Amino acid sequence: MKKNVAIAIDGPSGAGKSTLARRCAACFGLIYVDTGAIYRTVGLAAYRRRVDRKDEAAVSRLLPELKIRMDYDEKGEQRMVLDGEDVSAAIREPEISLCASDVSALPAVRAFLLDMQRKMAREHSVIMDGRDIGTVVLPRAELKIFLTASPQARAHRRMLELQAKGHQVSYDQVLQDIQYRDAQDSGRSAAPLKAAEDAVHVDTSELNFEESFQLLRDLIHKRLGLEEKA
Ligand code: C5P
Repeated sequence: MKKNVAIAIDGPSGAGKSTLARRCAACFGLIYVDTGAIYRTVGLAAYRRRVDRKDEAAVSRLLPELKIRMDYDEKGEQRMVLDGEDVSAAIREPEISLCASDVSALPAVRAFLLDMQRKMAREHSVIMDGRDIGTVVLPRAELKIFLTASPQARAHRRMLELQAKGHQVSYDQVLQDIQYRDAQDSGRSAAPLKAAEDAVHVDTSELNFEESFQLLRDLIHKRLGLEEKA
């Protein structure tokens, strides 16, 4: 039986992980797993039930009640289902980003979601993005990439993305949210955002999407010898 391959992409919010990982997945015929979406789903559940997202005991009580499922639609897009409802759009609201960052700092939440993530990599060849994929979730991934960009470049991209979706946001607000999440994701004691020792660092501040994609594609091709499917 052919062995599954795992590629881990970690890095701060807005570095381009998800768009690049999705494109690499299509290129090499891998399943793209967006782990941020799973944390966002827990964040959304806490938000809707008005649970204090920093109160570990309260959030822990909520976890066994949640029915979280990850599906893939006919286009291969990951969908998040919470208690039977497709919440893939709802989890992208800007306030849910902050909820996700809050709940993801809780060790109980991280432990609860670990199996779901590892199961995907056991069953499929994956490219998985997040904050702790190379360090905690898939420490034996065949290739680990740590993707970064300056906070200013990330805020600019995120602002354009949100505005394209019709959100009224200012650059300053987006930069502030990114800095809040950076500080919280890097400073927490449970699985903080940090590069694995054997990760390849890629800084996309000065690169556009196409240049960043080509860089990752060449890296995957060279390091893993995968053939392009598309
Ligand atoms: O990647 P995305 O911005 O959608 O993730 C939302 C939040 O979930 C992040 O700010 C981070 O706090 C958290 N997260 C995490 N570990 C992951 C993926 C996301 O802590 N593997």
